Amino acid sequence: MANKAENKNLAKDATAYTRDANAAWYKKLDFDDEAEKENALRGLLEAPTALVIRGEDGHVVWNAAGYDFMKEFAKAPDTANPSLWRNTLFNSYAGLFEVCKGIYQVRGYDMANVTFIRTKNGWIVFDVLMCQEDMEEAKALMEKHFGPLKIVAVLYSHSHVDHYGGIYGLVKKEDAADAKLSLKDQLASGKVVVIAPEGFLEHAVSENIYAGSAMARRAQYQYGVHLHPGPKGKLAIGIGLGQAVGNVGLLPPTYEVTKNETLCIDGIEIQFQLTPGTEAPAEMNAYFPDYRALWLAENCTGTMHNLYTLRGAQVRDASAWAKYILEAEELFGDKTDVVFQSHNWPHWGTEIIRKYMDDTAAAYKYINDQTLHYANLGYTPVEIARMLDLPEKLARVWYIRQYYGTLNHNIKAVYQRYLGWYDANPVNLNLLTPEATGKKWAEYLGDASAVLAKARKDYEKGEYQWVAQVTKELVFADPSNQEARNLCADALEQLGYQAESGIWRNAYLTAALELRCGNHAIHAPKAGAADMKAGMTAEMMLDFINISTDAIKAQNDDFTLNLIVSDTGETFFIKRRDGVLLVHKGVKGKAADCTLTCSRMQLMGLMMVNKEVLQRISAEGDKTVPVRLIKYMTPFKTDFNIIEP
Ligand SMILES: [Zn+2]
Repeated sequence: MANKAENKNLAKDATAYTRDANAAWYKKLDFDDEAEKENALRGLLEAPTALVIRGEDGHVVWNAAGYDFMKEFAKAPDTANPSLWRNTLFNSYAGLFEVCKGIYQVRGYDMANVTFIRTKNGWIVFDVLMCQEDMEEAKALMEKHFGPLKIVAVLYSHSHVDHYGGIYGLVKKEDAADAKLSLKDQLASGKVVVIAPEGFLEHAVSENIYAGSAMARRAQYQYGVHLHPGPKGKLAIGIGLGQAVGNVGLLPPTYEVTKNETLCIDGIEIQFQLTPGTEAPAEMNAYFPDYRALWLAENCTGTMHNLYTLRGAQVRDASAWAKYILEAEELFGDKTDVVFQSHNWPHWGTEIIRKYMDDTAAAYKYINDQTLHYANLGYTPVEIARMLDLPEKLARVWYIRQYYGTLNHNIKAVYQRYLGWYDANPVNLNLLTPEATGKKWAEYLGDASAVLAKARKDYEKGEYQWVAQVTKELVFADPSNQEARNLCADALEQLGYQAESGIWRNAYLTAALELRCGNHAIHAPKAGAADMKAGMTAEMMLDFINISTDAIKAQNDDFTLNLIVSDTGETFFIKRRDGVLLVHKGVKGKAADCTLTCSRMQLMGLMMVNKEVLQRISAEGDKTVPVRLIKYMTPFKTDFNIIEP
């Protein structure tokens, strides 16, 4: 098997089919319409040259310069979808931009944008990038033009890490205001107020804890972390150039917006509109009347977004999403000169803005309701996803093209939301595993080389999806069949070259890499995990212990436990039976086997199987209980196989 470094040479050229498929995009879309390019460049104050941001240890955190290869091409190469190529070019315009007088953005310094809004005596910062290193650079660029920044408040638009993880590049922990004070007193204290939508912390933490390891491995495919930027490699993902790899922090908010309220921060009025259950479970838009400027968080982003994220996430509500965009339009549409957001570039002009919001809302509403329309006619998700296109006019709108989310996988998301994973065909109720299925196929099909010869003919005909499907069976029957792996890789690679979605391209090309070179993923603990865990409640920790426990191994090891969390005053009565923890909150059992008193941090130590903590905590009664509580926990992996058994 080849090694990963050799993959660059293994990557094939585009076939004639891929070349033609990509060329056809020039007729599908209006490439002469340059409005999005003008928006992406408007207000540019300074662009960096060869932007590479490194961590303290020298590793590359962010590499915008990696996309400089694009300058060598007058138009998209055959190995790239021209629509995605164009989006990548616009996303590579990094620098400091004026949104309007008083509002500035640093874009292209991380996947998301950081926005600076001038107040009477200082600045409000809306979203703080994903990594500290990137935030430090962005701040330095801003200070070069405006002098030292006095930060009055930080706003987190929503609970995703690319919007809060870089906080320590801007604000030190000790400079944050005291959350116990009223907002008025926080502002008067001269410290930095950190404002977020209701439920922010809970969602920021829980989304990364319960399914965190599975998501981390799957995210390697979505973000193409093992790929290099290039005409045969990684391109943009519609909401930026990709994921940064630096220090991630989580500074809890000191004030949560719990209703649509108006706040005044250092002379600047902000009208908040909560939009829960849209792109994130906790999210908000904000209107700045002094600037006639509307912040749309990630509800409108200049691309079709994900109703379902390929890294794995709970499915989002397309109908609510559309509704909140329309509500924002009703509330603020008439008095807005510019909309700006956490990814991509602003849009200016009241009429353009209304159309921008209506187009985006229409796309989500269309996906939601037409999926249900065809489901009610008896079609299954795979069928609906292959049948439906966007309506013609909507399909030609650049800022809802499918760079991040796709119509295809969003349709499946809507189906899942309303009808679940089951297509109602009982054959699919209890499928054999992929490995068992592959083995049976291999047995029925007979000689694998004869199957590959047929598959090669279909490859010559451009039937890449089918070739990938049939060779996948051979790979799952026998992962050492390198010929099958290579042909599967070739087919997926052509699909990647044709994909308009950056995350589809990354997924296809990462699969091709691993089919050719094997699984090269390394198990790396997630950056920022410590901070993230600091935000966990005792209940979340108990959940995590239970998720990590192999219940079958623990099934005959029952106990009862009174848990007292000394610093929060919480009590829990916990029963383990059948390997499962049943937790009663606020209850104390009369005859528990053991009573355990510990601080929240000690409980976390226990959760992380820290043996020293085990010795220090105070247990009365059966002292074996705390040991047995964590005895069957299995460490999770971020390097499991995906394209092979
Ligand atoms: Zn984001």
